[in-house]
Amino acid sequence: MTTGTISVKCRCGSDKFNVPSTRRPSDTISCARCGATGKYGDVTRTARTQAKAAVEKQLKDAFKKAGFKLK
Ligand SMILES: [Zn+2]
Repeated sequence: MTTGTISVKCRCGSDKFNVPSTRRPSDTISCARCGATGKYGDVTRTARTQAKAAVEKQLKDAFKKAGFKLK
């Protein structure tokens, strides 16, 4: 299992972003491919939500493989 990696994908499918070195929540980041922009704080929040969902899915899959019944 990989931990500590937060990956964000733009709506264009790219995961490359121009991120300001300051990385404050109010900073604007832009997609390196299509140029879409967003607030760094919003993007990291989304990434954390996605990462959490991915981890929960991995856990559920692991439990299912182990024979647990999940509702
Ligand atoms: Zn994009």
